Amino acid sequence: MLKVLFVYDPEARLDLFELFPRLKSFFSNRRNFAILRTFGDIVFTILILMGLFGPQDPSRNIMLFISWGVWWTSIVLSWFFVGRMWCGVCPFPGIGRIFQKLGLYRKKLPLQTFSKYCAYGATILLALILWVEAVTHMKYSPFLTSLLLISILLGATVFAILYKGQAWCRHFCPMGKIIGAAATMSILEFRPLLEKCRGCKDFPCKRGKGNIPGCPVYLGAYAVKNNLLCLVCGHCVPLCDRDSPRLFLRHPLKELIINKGRYLTCAYIIPFLMASQLSRFIQEKTVWYQSFKASLANSEAIAFTIILGLWFIFFVGIIRLGAKLFTFFEDELFGKFSPMVPVLVPMAFTGELTYRLDYFLHEVGNFFPVLGRQFGLELEHLGFVVPEWLIILTLKTLIIVGGIGAFYVAWIFYSQEFEGIVPKINFFGIVGLIVMISTLYFVFC
Ligand code: SF4
Ligand code: SF4
Ligand code: SF4
Repeated sequence: MLKVLFVYDPEARLDLFELFPRLKSFFSNRRNFAILRTFGDIVFTILILMGLFGPQDPSRNIMLFISWGVWWTSIVLSWFFVGRMWCGVCPFPGIGRIFQKLGLYRKKLPLQTFSKYCAYGATILLALILWVEAVTHMKYSPFLTSLLLISILLGATVFAILYKGQAWCRHFCPMGKIIGAAATMSILEFRPLLEKCRGCKDFPCKRGKGNIPGCPVYLGAYAVKNNLLCLVCGHCVPLCDRDSPRLFLRHPLKELIINKGRYLTCAYIIPFLMASQLSRFIQEKTVWYQSFKASLANSEAIAFTIILGLWFIFFVGIIRLGAKLFTFFEDELFGKFSPMVPVLVPMAFTGELTYRLDYFLHEVGNFFPVLGRQFGLELEHLGFVVPEWLIILTLKTLIIVGGIGAFYVAWIFYSQEFEGIVPKINFFGIVGLIVMISTLYFVFC
């Protein structure tokens, strides 16, 4: 296991279904997922109600810490370990699923054009969410947090009424796009054993069997080639009678290295995500941001947008410069790719984890006092403060880990994948870019 995880070998992976048959039974028994989803649906409904009708003072409403501190931070952390598995139990498609079970939906497949253009729409939605979150200080507003959850729930429900399966999840969900992009550096991958698929005629993993519908995102296990789209919901496991779908343990950077930034989703999401992280750090932690905002009629929207726009241009520039330094970004068979994107991915997602952990570690000690104030219980004495040095140490360590991950991807490209193609001086240039970006994170986080 340690060898698979820490020594890069594109062929090495461990079949976890074979190693732990109970894991396969867990996926095959659909009741397990139903129980997890029901639990999620209940918690989710309570959170929304608390946000809409509970106290709006952030020090008296625990839904904020549960939503932003526990829920979202756990999802971000889960990307590195279980990839997109959160989507298998996500509560957002819950109401749509009920409509579909009752037959109250148009039994149509999504339009072909969705596959082509929706990545842009989802990325714009994600950008909008991150922007609104920062500009409205949503982490401190129970009402706005509930509105955000309701709007994603609404999107998933409307698309479930318009189309079969989970069209929202496949094409539009902004969270799904960021989770999918992050899952490319997970230590798990859900894949078929293609030799078992040979000769399969009915493709029940995709089309379903009898009354059981097929893959909710129109893939089917045999078509899963990366971690971007598959929800790891395990729905296809009991549908396949050839025992093909498997869960593998792998090297976390394998997919990034193999794909080399070929997919559009990452090419847009990564620079925006990194730009938004540095902007959010600057907004929350620097004094000069306040003076800058004051010089713009105290408009958070204008000040944040300017900083975000500048960082976005900066990261797009870094991606272009990185591609030039690699000297290799197009191949007859492979098509166009963007080698600097996979180099940035480890920094982008450790950056997001850093930002979320920062909030979690500052707020965790207030959990019981806030809970007590909301429900009229005397819990103030259970409050505590996580020492600032420990928070700083944790965040800076994560930034260093992200930088090491980026260096590792760049090194494998230089020494193995593009062996003999990238001049040594260019490689030093790429390392220079990694050090510069890590330093920026280090300074601002
Ligand atoms: S794609 Fe979005 S709505 Fe769908 S399961 Fe994932 S997070 Fe939930
Ligand atoms: S995964 Fe199973 S059902 Fe799907 S094509 Fe392969 S053998 Fe057939
Ligand atoms: S391929 Fe299987 S695990 Fe992946 S989304 Fe489809 S049904 Fe779920």
